[in-house]
Formats: sequence, C-alpha cells, structure tokens
Amino acid sequence: MTCLLITGCASYRSPLPSVSPPGEDEETRISREFRREAKKHFTYINNPEIERYIERIGQRILSAMGPQPFDYRFFVIADPQLNAFAVPGGSVFFYSGLIERAKSTSEIAGVMGHEIVHIKGRHMARQSGPDAISLLSLVGMLLLARSGAGAQAAGVVGQAVSATRQIAYSRQLEMEADTLGVRYMTAAGYDPAGSLGFLKTLDQERSLNPIDVPAYMMTHPITQERVANVQLVIRSLGDVQSKSEVFDQLKKIQVLIRLARQETDKVIDEFQKLVAQTPGDSAAFHLLALAQHHKGQMSQAKANYEKALKLNQEDAGLYRDLGRLYTDSGDFGAARSMLDKASSMEPKEPLNYFYLGELLEKENDLRAAAGAYLNAQQLSPFWDKPPARLGTIYGNLDRLGDAYYYRARFLLLQDEDERAMADLEKAIKILGENSARGQTAKDELNNLRARRR
Ligand SMILES: [Zn+2]
Repeated sequence: MTCLLITGCASYRSPLPSVSPPGEDEETRISREFRREAKKHFTYINNPEIERYIERIGQRILSAMGPQPFDYRFFVIADPQLNAFAVPGGSVFFYSGLIERAKSTSEIAGVMGHEIVHIKGRHMARQSGPDAISLLSLVGMLLLARSGAGAQAAGVVGQAVSATRQIAYSRQLEMEADTLGVRYMTAAGYDPAGSLGFLKTLDQERSLNPIDVPAYMMTHPITQERVANVQLVIRSLGDVQSKSEVFDQLKKIQVLIRLARQETDKVIDEFQKLVAQTPGDSAAFHLLALAQHHKGQMSQAKANYEKALKLNQEDAGLYRDLGRLYTDSGDFGAARSMLDKASSMEPKEPLNYFYLGELLEKENDLRAAAGAYLNAQQLSPFWDKPPARLGTIYGNLDRLGDAYYYRARFLLLQDEDERAMADLEKAIKILGENSARGQTAKDELNNLRARRR
C-alpha cells in the first residue's frame, strides 16, 4: 500500500538500515523524505500569521523541554478534517479543521505537547519494532490516513480506514504522550486544562457524528483511562500560573482560515452583527476590520481598526494589522509608526520585522527592507518567507552572491536539496571562498553533501 502511494519506493529503501531501530539521523532523513512526499498530497496554508501562530506554540513548548536532537518544523494543512500528526524526526502537521474546532490556544498547545512527545520519545519506532522499513510504511500510512468523510472525498475509503487504524498508537504510548505533553505545555506557560478541553472537544465531535470518527481519534484513541490520567496529571501539577498571552490569537487565526477559504462576505456579516450586539468588544471590531481589509474595503477597515484600538491598546497584533492596512493604503508614515509600536511591544516577534520589510519594499528602500527581513530570519530560522524575500531583494540590488545564498536557504527549507546545492555553488563562485558569507555557503554546501552520502 505504501508503495502504491509513495512514488519512488526504491529510493526510500536503499539508504536505510534493515536492522536495529532507526537512529536519530535516520529519523531526520525520514522527516525530510516525508515532507517531500507530503507537498504532493497536501495543500499548506500560506499565511504568515497562521504559520507563525503554530510555530510560536511549538517553539514555546520545545524551549520548556531543553535541548532537542531534531530541528522541528510545523505545518498547517488546508483541510477541514479534525486531525494532526507527528512524523519521526521533528515534523508536526496540524489540519486547519482542528484549529477551527479548538476553543482556545491552550487546547492547541495540548495537542502540540502530545505530538512533540510522540517525536521526542521516538514512539513510532517503538511501535513499529526494530525494522526500519516498517517504520517507513507507518509513515506512508500517515499520508493515507483520513476520517470516513475525508476518505470518501478522496475515494480511498477502505485503504484510508485500514491505514488509519494501523498507525494508531498503543495505549501505553498515548498515556506517555498525555502525561509528558501536559507537563511540558504547563512548563511553557499554557493552561493544562486545555489538554483536557481538547479531549472533550473530540468526544463531542464523536457524539455529534458517531459514524464519521475524526482521523485524530482513530490514530490517538481516546479512552476513559486517558481522560482520567490527564485529570490526574493536571491535579498533580497543583496551582499553575498560566502565562498564556493575554489576548488569545486563536479567534483571529480561525477568521484567517475562513478568509483563505473565501468566506469573506460571511465573516463580515457575522462580525457586523457581533459588533452591533457587543459594542465594547475590541476583538470583534479587530476581526471585522481584518475581513474588510481582506476584501479591500480599506476605509471601513480603518475605521473599525481604530475603534478596536480605542477599546484596547495592549494588543501588539492590532497595531501590526493596522500597520499593514496603512502599508496597503500607501500611508507609509502611519504604517511605520504602527509597526514600530508593535515591535516595541513584542521585540522578538518576527512578523513585526517581516511586515516592516514589506513596507520598506513599497517605499523602495531595498537595503533597509533586507535588514528587516534579516531580523525576521534570525528570530525564526525555519520560517521560509524571510529568506524567500531576501533572495529576491538581493537580486534587485544586484548582489547576486547574496541572492543565490538566500534562495538556497529558502530551497533548503522546502527540502529541495539539489536546487539548493546548485545555488550555493553559484553563491560561492560569486562571493569567493575567502569572504565570510562565501565561507558560510561553503560549509553549508559541505554539510549538504555529507548528508547525502
Ligand atoms: Zn497520540
């Protein structure tokens, strides 16, 4: 089945040992191979806010866990199914349908903690036994796994259901992922009740639609035992101080997912009713403005952002969004002051510098724009948007060595190793091996060559 699904099975098999469980290097390789296949099967949500939202949660939990053997990557798949999964070696995938059904960011953090523990604890290898090939077939099944409705839409009902059952984690591994996941998310400052809340959300989903069980429930079976265990872990943590963001960004992310699905008019209608009912609700004005901006209703959007700002001056995201509206309306001075305000409130949020880069590009100050994108890249080295912009800008500035170098970095994040290597070679040729950047490019090229052996 895996062979039917994954093209180029031979290339999967050859580099892998057939004895002993895959070590960490093999798991990193598996993650990369999986991501290459996944791009052909899934559509990712391509939105800076949504990408950063899920990465922020993942990185925050990881930083509470200490040093890690993997570079973790986080992806949001545009798919209404309630699902999320982890691939050995550090890749975590959320379906937009799960994000839309969650009731708070701490529920998402609960799923994130659980999935990261599956990776960190090498659960798939432990489940699949000592044969690396069986681990790969499990990974292949992840691509197939779907809920009943999703499988019907894809016309692969039998395959999908049996694949989904086969990659279900054992009871023991689920308990371990819950126990450690709750502890890590709590250490990261999320409310551990979110973990329990998500299990309840799943249970509600099942009672609403008992025939079409969400894929997530099939791969991570929910039992009374799990619920009781999570309750016990939460109680054992005692009174925890949750440092969660004062303004939960989940509702905004849910709106952005709907805008990406072309539901803009519906969203505007809903939020227009909401602001009429609750005129003191800053978030409602904010999200109405966001949808109006998306539709190109700039003056209405501006008025509603300003109403939101009058009601709440503490949300950096609001200044950022208003800054983007000013950028798009050509009011560059106002845009600059909004984005500077957002940076002063959240100096470590790369979105602030990314949008500043967009503004500076519009102002035709490409050098300063490159500086802003470099800041964004340093704050989030696995985010592919800043190096993509840097590649283009350096090209326009006629700094071709740098342009090839950043395009290579972007391609590496896309797991396009061959093309990245070709660009690194061009960069080295132009920059010279003795320049600092040329030396960096050379080191990176050597690393890439070494990992292909
Ligand atoms: Zn699980």
